[in-house]
Amino acid sequence: MLNRIVAIAAVLLSLGNLGAQTIADRTNLGASLFLVNRDFALSQDYAPEDLVRPNVRTQYGNITMRREAAEALEELFKAAKEEQGFVLEAVSGYRSFARQKAIYNRKIRNTGSVDKAQLLVAPPGTSEHQLGLAMDIGRKSGSGLNASFGKTKEGLWVAENAHRFGFVIRYKEEWTGITGYAYEPWHIRYVGKEHAAQLYRLDVPLEIYVDALSEAILNQSLLGGLPQ
Ligand SMILES: [Zn+2]
Repeated sequence: MLNRIVAIAAVLLSLGNLGAQTIADRTNLGASLFLVNRDFALSQDYAPEDLVRPNVRTQYGNITMRREAAEALEELFKAAKEEQGFVLEAVSGYRSFARQKAIYNRKIRNTGSVDKAQLLVAPPGTSEHQLGLAMDIGRKSGSGLNASFGKTKEGLWVAENAHRFGFVIRYKEEWTGITGYAYEPWHIRYVGKEHAAQLYRLDVPLEIYVDALSEAILNQSLLGGLPQ
């Protein structure tokens, strides 16, 4: 992992002004690189202001996400259809704090264990779905959200191509110890095309990426100021 972190520092230099914005992107609520996980929780009051319904097939319900991410999702689904003939569907997008709380409490009741529930469902405030930048996706008339999606031709294509549209596979199997979440090949997170391309190339979780970038930027500023 250490040589990957060195590689991330090198990426910073190639990003130029984008690199300089990274601390802000990480710490400004509303920026595309904002990190939410078990250690960085959102307040129950946070709700994005630019939620829209993406113009894509949906499995059910009123599915929304933030405008920029919704447009990127439309492009991703369109490319899947045009390049491969795959029909993808949106399953779950933005979720409010209250909705996440209800899902979480139901999982605790069903599993009978807070520990088990926590690995499967984010406690309220710690879900990326509250950011409006995450979408759970599946195949047309697929059988719900499960790890087998990652082995389908659609899932394999998404894993190799989502970054072209600004999305990353957020919870890979080998990252569970860092992300705190079980493998979720269906959960894609919008971070913007530039960061998604780097995350795909480096093959590291968002936690490692933002930590390393923030540190590199801090070092750079101590050594002589950030590029303007
Ligand atoms: Zn999800």
